[in-house]
Amino acid sequence: MKKICNCNIPKNLQEDMMAESIAAYVAGIPIEEVVEDDVYEKRLERCSTCDALVGGLTCSHCGCFVLARAKKKRMDCPRPGGSLWR
Ligand code: SF4
Repeated sequence: MKKICNCNIPKNLQEDMMAESIAAYVAGIPIEEVVEDDVYEKRLERCSTCDALVGGLTCSHCGCFVLARAKKKRMDCPRPGGSLWR
């Protein structure tokens, strides 16, 4: 994975910090706004094989962290040709 930014923080620490931040954000999404675990896993499975996934983290079509976007009920896959989540 590429460094997240060009500061002097080592790449592995940047990745750890980013993973923690995303996990904290996802954990903070209100329960009524999140999809069921099986739906979340299916969405992330699709993202993991999608050519729009950048650096294993973000979707090139919307710039979102897929771990966060896929967790939200109101979100869909933004692929221009049609959602890959359905
Ligand atoms: S286009 Fe859809 S499936 Fe592909 S990375 Fe973005 S959200 Fe995931």
